Amino acid sequence: MTPVRDVAYFGAGPAKIPEEVLRRTQDDIVNWRGTGVGILEVSHRSTEYMAMMQETEERLRSMMDIPTEYAVLFMAGGGTAQFAAVVLNLVRQDPAKRQVDYLISGSWSSKAAQEAERLLAHTDLQVNQIQLFNKTKGEMAFTCPSEWNLSRETTSYVYYCDNETIDGIEMPSSDYIPDMLDACGCNAPIVVDMSSNFLSRPVNVRRFGVIFATAQKNFGPAGVTVAIVRRNLLTVAAPPLLPIPTTLDYCIFDKSHSLHNTPPCSAISVCNYVFEWLGTRFGTLVHIEQLAQHKASQLYHCISESDGFYRSPIPPNFQSSMNVVFRIVKADGQVAPELEDEFVRDAEGRGLTGLRGHRSVGGIRVSLYNAVRTEEVMRVAAFMRSFAEKHADI
Ligand SMILES: *Cc1c(COP(=O)(O)O)cnc(C)c1O
Repeated sequence: MTPVRDVAYFGAGPAKIPEEVLRRTQDDIVNWRGTGVGILEVSHRSTEYMAMMQETEERLRSMMDIPTEYAVLFMAGGGTAQFAAVVLNLVRQDPAKRQVDYLISGSWSSKAAQEAERLLAHTDLQVNQIQLFNKTKGEMAFTCPSEWNLSRETTSYVYYCDNETIDGIEMPSSDYIPDMLDACGCNAPIVVDMSSNFLSRPVNVRRFGVIFATAQKNFGPAGVTVAIVRRNLLTVAAPPLLPIPTTLDYCIFDKSHSLHNTPPCSAISVCNYVFEWLGTRFGTLVHIEQLAQHKASQLYHCISESDGFYRSPIPPNFQSSMNVVFRIVKADGQVAPELEDEFVRDAEGRGLTGLRGHRSVGGIRVSLYNAVRTEEVMRVAAFMRSFAEKHADI
């Protein structure tokens, strides 16, 4: 049998967690921090647990340089719950606000807009969807911001997704969209879903109203979601348009230090270790970003050197450093799902797992989160070359 950790795992989410963190958690399950009680059992009201929550928040604040006027909330329900939380918390009873603007770049931003539509269906507010990419003759192109039909003064916020996990589309930097909105004269609060590139590059937190990220992509296990919320958005005089369930209420989570009800204790403990690991191992987000770009470039290089055997559907400027998505193409230019199946099977035979693209789009997806090591990426690159050579005649 292959020793378990010889497997290199490239799953998109739940995704790889650093082995050091898994080992510590293994011990914690039986006896957490010397309390004699396991992390799955410990009371969230115990002094030790509350101290750990505080430490987790401080680690994240220092890593991301989060200003004090922002609340850091640990919530449950995943990124999907945040799709609703954003609408419920930010849309207020304000007759001047007629829309919510959603910049659509792929599957997750589209799902978020659908959730907004569902929640606002019986109100007179409109969900204004703005497509960020045009597709003509199979080629994707970024639309010109002057063509965006932004609502400006009449929107409660502008929403976008910084990294589309399924499609492999990432904004060139976390300032990219805020800069464009500024240039368009749009001052509405910006809400961003950073689920799959959180802690992979520096973020100028002050440019955002809300940043949220579900843990199981780049920093922990499923079950916990971080929301970073500018506090002045929580204290506006106008009451929310729709009632907010307490489990999604940013104000309640802020006041209770994310301890309004029982939090996902063990998941948060894992995040704590991951934050610590990032600090010791990489130091800063600038360094993490360099490494992430280096890892991704190994694979994008393989794609561009493959004479069209591998094809990235994404314009180079928007190719994600976290989720490298590509198709396998035959000499006649047609996508070859049977070769993609063979690719995934052969890769698994070599201990390279989690490479199948999302079921909604097909193809191959290599997720290169922080826990994925450079030598593991090199193994995929070597495999891609040998697979392309083997099929050179097709
Ligand atoms: C995975 C993902 C989500 C959904 O997260 P869940 O925890 O499954 O609800 C939302 N947005 C992005 C960008 C994601 O990658």
